[in-house]
Amino acid sequence: MGLIKLNNSRCKSCYLCVETCPKGLIKKSDKTNRLGDYIVEFDDPKGECVACAMCAKRCPDLAIEVFK
Ligand code: SF4
Ligand code: SF4
Repeated sequence: MGLIKLNNSRCKSCYLCVETCPKGLIKKSDKTNRLGDYIVEFDDPKGECVACAMCAKRCPDLAIEVFK
């Protein structure tokens, strides 16, 4: 089981991570960071994250860290 940590202040609302996660665990949110960009949320109530790190590799702003 994996876990990701999102650095909201780096997020630019590109949503590449949302499209990339094979399990659909990263969701758009209606919250914004201090720059006014919409952030994303990690939503994994069933512990489905496999720590594949595809989300982190795809994020152009290095806003995602993955933990195993
Ligand atoms: S590490 Fe893989 S499974 Fe976990 S949130 Fe990122 S893309 Fe999804
Ligand atoms: S890929 Fe990175 S910058 Fe783009 S929405 Fe996801 S966390 Fe934010």
